[in-house]
Amino acid sequence: MDADVIVIGAGLAGLQAARRLQARGLAVTVVEASDAVGGRVRTDVVDGFRMDRGFQVLNPAYPAVQRWVDVRALGLQEFGVGAVVRTGGTTRTLAHPLRHPQHAFGTLRSGLVPARDLIGLARWLGPTLARARTASRATKDETLRASLDAAGVTGRLRRHVLDTFLAGVLADSSGSASANYVRLLLRSFALGVPGLPHAGMQALPEQLAAALTRPVRLGTPANAVRETDAGVQVDTDDGAIRARAAIVAVAAHDLAGFAPMPAPPMHGLTTWWFRAPDSPLSGRFLLLDASRREGGPAGPIWNTAVISEVAPSYAPAGVHLVQATTLLDRPDGLVGEAEVRRDLERLYRTSTHGWEVLAHHVVRHAVPAQPPGPIARGPLWTGRRVLVAGDHRETASIQGALVSGGRAAASVARRLGA
Ligand SMILES: Cc1cc2nc3c(=O)[nH]c(=O)nc-3n(C[C@H](O)[C@H](O)[C@H](O)COP(=O)(O)OP(=O)(O)OC[C@H]3O[C@@H](n4cnc5c(N)ncnc54)[C@H](O)[C@@H]3O)c2cc1C
Repeated sequence: MDADVIVIGAGLAGLQAARRLQARGLAVTVVEASDAVGGRVRTDVVDGFRMDRGFQVLNPAYPAVQRWVDVRALGLQEFGVGAVVRTGGTTRTLAHPLRHPQHAFGTLRSGLVPARDLIGLARWLGPTLARARTASRATKDETLRASLDAAGVTGRLRRHVLDTFLAGVLADSSGSASANYVRLLLRSFALGVPGLPHAGMQALPEQLAAALTRPVRLGTPANAVRETDAGVQVDTDDGAIRARAAIVAVAAHDLAGFAPMPAPPMHGLTTWWFRAPDSPLSGRFLLLDASRREGGPAGPIWNTAVISEVAPSYAPAGVHLVQATTLLDRPDGLVGEAEVRRDLERLYRTSTHGWEVLAHHVVRHAVPAQPPGPIARGPLWTGRRVLVAGDHRETASIQGALVSGGRAAASVARRLGA
């Protein structure tokens, strides 16, 4: 045997599984197809700019992050608690009154937080805020859209702020996600302040990988996994690796060939990264475009931010980094640079003439769809010794991937009697 357990995939789920197995005294080999660990959490450094592969944030309030990640070591640079919302010709800042008292009056006067919406939202989210299990263990679920409608959250806070913000987070503007899952997401946003690690989002998986005594075998795609009389065999281009059990921790769309199950659908997004000589908007807030009458953006950009205002480590001194995110949930989802620039000029009311495109990340498989239904299905045994894990088995998030890896490790350790 080459190891007790082989883990296929060094995303957050695979790395967490490996760490937990190692902590139980098992020898673990992790094989990763790509040239670095992280999976969907990767950061490119270009000319001193850090660009995550698709705009994403780390929420320190995720229970799994609190338990398993040394957030302090990541040097999180926090977003402001609120958002700048563009509606038609007007730009308003909505912010947490205690954290950003200078925006309290403007937030109240904005017309975007009607009392009826606030009361409905408190009723809708309150029980989950008090106790996460209210949502995670709920037996009843429905779509986000139906659930908010039923709770009476139908005004401008919903249409112009919540729906627009959530579309960016879920990479899905249809409102068809699980209401219970979104309750859990919003709970984390209410309890924590998301941010960006000093060295970029990839610092998160790198921290997990650093704890492994056997280095991850990078550039080593697993071609097949099969059970043998003695255990499992994973075939790679470098030869076969044998172990007592295997965990397949690849993304949903990469499961074909490993597990006899239909790949869950995934939502996609694109992020444009621009170098700007001046900051087009001061402050650490995300800008949401809700310029359509019924809410949602008038152009292709759902959200944008001057990342260097939030995370100075993401850009060299004296220049700025701007991200703009578009969704791929429509047939016309993939838009060109000219259209994105026109939209940015409308949103920031400035010329983008001196701006330079640094990268355009098209992430077709960003997050698995999270339809109404049981939230955490748990890792899945496909035989006696092969287990499937990943965010698609829990929630479509960093939290879900970490939990799935941990649960997979516990399950395999039990089966191996460790
Ligand atoms: C653009 C974007 C924005 C996001 N924003 C957020 C956010 O703000 N907050 C949040 O909580 N979540 C966010 N997410 C979701 C979160 O990143 C994922 O849920 C999580 O990283 C999934 O981890 P995973 O380990 O399950 O899968 P992955 O990260 O997909 O890891 C799977 C790994 O398996 C490897 N692999 C695949 N096939 C093979 C093979 N044959 N052999 C060996 N290795 C293989 C892959 O290379 C990959 O490294 C975002 C995702 C994206 C893409």
